[in-house]
Amino acid sequence: MSTQNYTYLHKKLLSWYKTHGRQLPWRETDDPYKILVSEIMLQQTQVSRVIDKYNSFIHRFPDIYSLAKASTGKIIREWSGMGYNKRAVNLHKTAKIIVQNHNGEIPKLLETLVSLPGIGRYTASAIVNFAFRLRVPVVDINIKRVIGRVDQGSLFDTDKLAWETALKYLPEKTKTADWHQALMDLGAMVCTAKKPRCESCPLVLNCSASIKFISSNHLNKINTKSPQKTNPAFAGSNRYYRGKVIEELRGRINSIKIDQLGILIKQDYSPNTDKIWLENLINRLVKDGLIEKKKGVVSLP
Ligand code: SF4
Repeated sequence: MSTQNYTYLHKKLLSWYKTHGRQLPWRETDDPYKILVSEIMLQQTQVSRVIDKYNSFIHRFPDIYSLAKASTGKIIREWSGMGYNKRAVNLHKTAKIIVQNHNGEIPKLLETLVSLPGIGRYTASAIVNFAFRLRVPVVDINIKRVIGRVDQGSLFDTDKLAWETALKYLPEKTKTADWHQALMDLGAMVCTAKKPRCESCPLVLNCSASIKFISSNHLNKINTKSPQKTNPAFAGSNRYYRGKVIEELRGRINSIKIDQLGILIKQDYSPNTDKIWLENLINRLVKDGLIEKKKGVVSLP
């Protein structure tokens, strides 16, 4: 992908995040201790369950010293309802090491963080990125899925490839924390494992998997719709498809690639056989002032 395309992708996702991003308590702080606690909690527990527990845990143990000083039993009790209690024990051990060996300061170095109990590569990168705003890639299950689909049109074969590709996609300058949070939210809300909603995705124009998913979502919709009566002479005519193009563009804010539009308006659309027909249809609509075409994408004027 060209630098220009990366920049476009960053802009699209970050602006989507501004309006759609989830408001989570650990996103409202850059206190490394609180981010450490949240990341350990999020390792194996859903976000919705972590929210309440995070707030009460931080209330009970407001800093690394209060956590290190507490008994393990107290921490496990406070951990109730979260499951995987070993995380609470590891968190306690980590807090004690940080107080004893690092003057109570959460380490900034990835290598130091991964040597602490219960902290793996993902958690260490998340702490470094979210708390210290350092430019390192973060790859969790959502980020791995989104970047895999955008970059390759499918999931990554190996973790190594996922981390290497995540580094390529990292914004150059600032906002890498927002970038990762945005990817996580997109993976949780739009680019879900089973039913990605590509039609509502800010990355649709840059995504290698979008055509595949849009086409299969569209076919599913058609197969589950009750049959509608349409005048056979009208259905399939150019006038019919002109109406379908306008109807499709009316429902979206962003422009759309011509081939993607073809898939949405024509059930058996094939780029090989229908491309010229669609180009002509679009050119006529452009000539009529009904739509705009720029660099292979179309939109309402
Ligand atoms: S366009 Fe579809 S597959 Fe691609 S990132 Fe968006 S939701 Fe996922």
